[in-house]
Amino acid sequence: ANPIATVPETAGAELTVPLVTGESVGYANFDHAASAPCLSSVRRAVDEFLPWYASVHRGAGFASQVSTTIYERARQAVHTFVGGRSCDSVVFTRNTTDSLNLLARAVPRGTAVVLFDTEHHAALLPWRGHHVRRLPAPRTRSEAVTAVAKALAECPEGPRLVVAAGASNVTGELLPVAELTEVAHEAGARIVVDAAQLAPHRRVSLRELGADYVALSGHKLYAPFGAGALVGRSDWLRAAEPYLAGGGASKLVQGKETGVEVVWNTGAERHEAGSPNTVGVYALGVACTELATQWQQIEDHETALLDRLTSGLAEVAGLRVLRLFAGDGQNDQVGTISFVIDGFQPNWVAAVLSAEYGIGVRDGAFCAHIATRRLIGDAGGSGQQALRVSLGLGSKEEHVERLLRALHDITQGRTCWDYTIRDGRWAP
Ligand code: PMP
Repeated sequence: ANPIATVPETAGAELTVPLVTGESVGYANFDHAASAPCLSSVRRAVDEFLPWYASVHRGAGFASQVSTTIYERARQAVHTFVGGRSCDSVVFTRNTTDSLNLLARAVPRGTAVVLFDTEHHAALLPWRGHHVRRLPAPRTRSEAVTAVAKALAECPEGPRLVVAAGASNVTGELLPVAELTEVAHEAGARIVVDAAQLAPHRRVSLRELGADYVALSGHKLYAPFGAGALVGRSDWLRAAEPYLAGGGASKLVQGKETGVEVVWNTGAERHEAGSPNTVGVYALGVACTELATQWQQIEDHETALLDRLTSGLAEVAGLRVLRLFAGDGQNDQVGTISFVIDGFQPNWVAAVLSAEYGIGVRDGAFCAHIATRRLIGDAGGSGQQALRVSLGLGSKEEHVERLLRALHDITQGRTCWDYTIRDGRWAP
């Protein structure tokens, strides 16, 4: 068996949670794909910075200078983290959803957008007003590449953009983004990689992939909520209308008889109007810098746990793992797995795992309704919902063993408490 590697510590690692019995137990967090607890180093850095934050770019005071330096260093850290090139800008946003909406506003008028309908809603929905070509999910990675190439060939002349997740938030499977980048470029199109699920687990390099844009969220990258980034080619961003109009985005504003005349900034600040989330951006930069030094350990840690999780889930009666690329026969994925269990409602199972075992999972359709529903198909009794477990730096062997034991207990009818629906959720 692979050894479990030593990885950066997270601030959530020592949390204990109450059980329905009144006892407390160490929290087994299997919901890293939704939001990951911040690194301990991020927590310390934020704590040190909190007394210092002030307005960036505009103040002459010492605290403003400190904040401005820290903000711009974080920009550099994110640029380095995603292997940015000299043609790439880093625009700070709130999260991946915000980044992709920003890009949707920045692409030239009439852009044809090619994507799979199984994308997360953040990648699927922002393209209103563009020519969207939604492709049904293929069963293999090579079918995915062929389908995108074919769709691009059928698009009208003009700007084209492929939108693809680096890793699925439902199944954890990696998409063939390098190959998709190649076919996009052969067709004269650009590609944006939604790296919300990939960046916390694998090194993403714009330079090596050749991809044009990447979007990510701080709260999935072991930093707190509220800061994310869109990184990529500056030309479309520079030419686009500012995402938000206001201070910071504008270089010069003059009152004229005909109205207000504005000269907008042309750098990343064009899209960052208003006082930015300096603390969040700093935290994101610190997390990026730390993760970038530990990829091998992170992958070893997650692979060892994922192997055990995968083989253990296969032994749970009636449990079916959802897979996008079932036809591929290869398990190229990050530590996220969704499944259904014959005859058991996912939200009930999630409630039991929390109340009796101190295990946090996700149930539902994961903001990827089309993907989740298609993969569930007519699985008995689960409705249109599934369960998702996702590993991260805070995951331990003991958590995986506890989860597997709990699933055996549940499927063999060994849970102890009665549950009723309260406020729309199952509760003991
Ligand atoms: N894309 C993917 C693949 C995701 O998993 C998520 C978050 N679940 C998002 C985009 C959106 O991220 P955020 O909620 O941080 O905007």
